[in-house]
Amino acid sequence: MVDRVRGRFPVAVIGGGPAGLAAAAVLGAGGLAPVVLERGEGVGTSWRGHYDRLHLHTARWLSGLPGLPIPSGVGRWPGRDDVVRYLEQYAAHHHLEVRNGVEVRRVDRDPAGSGWVLRCPQGDLETGAVVVATGYNAVPRIPDWPGLAAFTTPVTHSGDYRSGAAYAGLDVLVVGAGNSGAEIAVDLAESGARRVRLAVRRPPYLMPRSMGFPRS
Ligand SMILES: Cc1cc2nc3c(=O)[nH]c(=O)nc-3n(C[C@H](O)[C@H](O)[C@H](O)COP(=O)(O)OP(=O)(O)OC[C@H]3O[C@@H](n4cnc5c(N)ncnc54)[C@H](O)[C@@H]3O)c2cc1C
Repeated sequence: MVDRVRGRFPVAVIGGGPAGLAAAAVLGAGGLAPVVLERGEGVGTSWRGHYDRLHLHTARWLSGLPGLPIPSGVGRWPGRDDVVRYLEQYAAHHHLEVRNGVEVRRVDRDPAGSGWVLRCPQGDLETGAVVVATGYNAVPRIPDWPGLAAFTTPVTHSGDYRSGAAYAGLDVLVVGAGNSGAEIAVDLAESGARRVRLAVRRPPYLMPRSMGFPRS
C-alpha cells in the first residue's frame, strides 16, 4: 500500500478538475491550506480523456478560473490540451498541494466528531472539512434502447470517442446535438465518414459559436 496521504488537513478537496482547483485556490487565498486529492495521475484527468478535436464552446475570457486568466496565446476557443496545460499552470500558480493517484472511496465521520476521515486505498486522511468536486459526468450512460443488445453495428459513447479516423468511409449516426454531439458530427464529416446524420429529439437552435461573444 502506498501511503501518499496520511496526515491531517484543515480542508481536503476531492477532485483535481476545474471546480476542485478553483475551490482550493480560493480557500488558499482565504488563509487555509487545503490538500487536493486527485485519483488520476495529474490535474484535469477528465479533460485529458476527452476526444482529440475538443475545443471549449465557452470563450477563453469567460472560461478562466479565479485568480488566473487563460493565456491569450491559445486563441478564442482553447483546445483540450490547452485546457490541461492551463489547469497545470493554475495549480502551480496558486501553489496548490495536489496529491495525484489518490482515490477517495469513502468519507466517514471522525470518531471524535471533530471532522472527517477519508478512506483511500493509498492511506486514510483526516480533515476538518471536505469539498467534493468529483464532477458530474464521469460515468457514461447509453440509454437502454429496445433492440440495442442485438444491434451488431458498434455503438460508442462520446466519452470513448477519440477521433473520426476510425470512421472514414462509414455511415454514422450521432445521437444528440449537444456540444459533444455537434462537434463530433463535424469531426466525422471532416475525417471522411461517408454520411453523417444527427438524431435530434426536438428541433435545436443552431447558431454560430461566436454569437454573443463580442471580444476577440
Ligand atoms: C465534451 C465536453 C466539453 C465541455 N466543454 C465545456 C466548455 O466549453 N466550457 C465549460 O465551461 N465546460 C465545458 N464542459 C463541462 C466540463 O465538464 C466542466 O467545465 C468541468 O470540467 C467540470 O469540472 P469539475 O471539476 O466539476 O469536474 P471534472 O473536470 O470531471 O473533474 C473531476 C475530477 O475529480 C476526480 N475524481 C473523481 N472522483 C474522484 C475520487 N473518488 N477521488 C479522487 N478524485 C476523483 C476526477 O479524476 C477529475 O479529475 C465540457 C464537458 C465535456 C464532457
